[in-house]
Amino acid sequence: MIILIFITLKKMYKYSMASLTKAEMLSWLKTEDRSELEKLYEKAYAVKLANTGKVVHFRGIIEFSNVCSKNCYYCGIRKDNKNVKRYSMEAKNILKAAKFALEAGYGSVVLQSGERADKVFVALIEKLLKDLNAMSSGKLGITLSLGEQSEATYKKWFAAGAKRYLLRIETSNPGLYAKLHPGDHEFGARLACLKLLKKTGYQVGTGVMIGLPFQTCEDLADDLAFFKKNDIDMLGMGPYIPHAETPLNAYAGNFDKKKNLRLGLTMIALARLSMPDINIAATTALQALDPKGRELGLLAGANIIMPNLTPTEYRAGYKLYDNKPCLDENAEMCLHCLEKRITALDEKIGYNSEGTSKHYLKRTKSGRVLKIPASKIDSKISI
Ligand code: SAH
Ligand code: SF4
Repeated sequence: MIILIFITLKKMYKYSMASLTKAEMLSWLKTEDRSELEKLYEKAYAVKLANTGKVVHFRGIIEFSNVCSKNCYYCGIRKDNKNVKRYSMEAKNILKAAKFALEAGYGSVVLQSGERADKVFVALIEKLLKDLNAMSSGKLGITLSLGEQSEATYKKWFAAGAKRYLLRIETSNPGLYAKLHPGDHEFGARLACLKLLKKTGYQVGTGVMIGLPFQTCEDLADDLAFFKKNDIDMLGMGPYIPHAETPLNAYAGNFDKKKNLRLGLTMIALARLSMPDINIAATTALQALDPKGRELGLLAGANIIMPNLTPTEYRAGYKLYDNKPCLDENAEMCLHCLEKRITALDEKIGYNSEGTSKHYLKRTKSGRVLKIPASKIDSKISI
């Protein structure tokens, strides 16, 4: 028994201390050897188990508007795509979708939309946050994914009850960033926003697209170093997938589905090894490349899934990339499908828990913890 405990502790120590040099990361990103990669994913999964447990947390995502003031070259809902029918959900319907999440025990939601920074929008979100918190008595962790905003806006939304923010840097290479965006979209401005978010007190999430045109394995290894250097709490990265009505689609001829899936999984595994206690999402874009993409993401070290709560009637209008899955499903169908997929992996779902990033808790020692009756807490869920 004592020997067993010693071996387990030694393993946990080894896994939690796992740190890879840039050269090692690069070599993993370049390898196509499936059996070697399987070993890497297994190791990352063991690190996930040792650090965040055998539990997957849900973040119900509500894509409440596709109105966007920006023109990112890769994105299907960019302002200049005139083929998109624009929508903005009414506040009461956003609240209804969030209520579904609360009642299903998701513990947290993500509010995502195209980018708007006008006064009407800022006030609308502020009011929505207050209503959401009142509706859930503060029991729903709220993540915003609403792009670049001023410090005043970030502060206003934080005060109104948003405690997490997801803002992908898209790529940590400023030169590549410039190739993917028009001249008025600045890498420095996006980076400054990430710093403001942390200063305001948010749990900060970022991420990149993987397999972009012009992107090299060196860029991806630098992205991993960027996450670590910026001491992030959450990671939501996923494969790049072309959208036919975007400027970047001119390079779609080079799009390699298998490669982007492999790189997506390898990035998750390497991120888990270098940042054992952060929350890492297995994003929907993985599933667009492989029906089991999200499960594979979990097995490579991710611990978060973002079930889609967007009402079915709006889903087709929120196509950031082509072949986005589950467009004809509703929130209930997504839940049942995910429950099946996750229990098939022998993982538990962290119901009724906000699933706060352990890294954030350690970083601040004051993370909000949802109080729930002991009877409803799975003994393996530590948050
Ligand atoms: N407007 C906000 C949030 C919505 S877009 C923002 O830009 O931050 C959310 C994410 O979708 C972006 O950060 C981007 O990484 C991703 N995305 C957009 N187009 C994509 C594509 N073609 N393939 C994969 N991901 C894409
Ligand atoms: Fe707008 Fe975000 Fe798409 Fe850029 S990635 S065009 S900001 S929705």
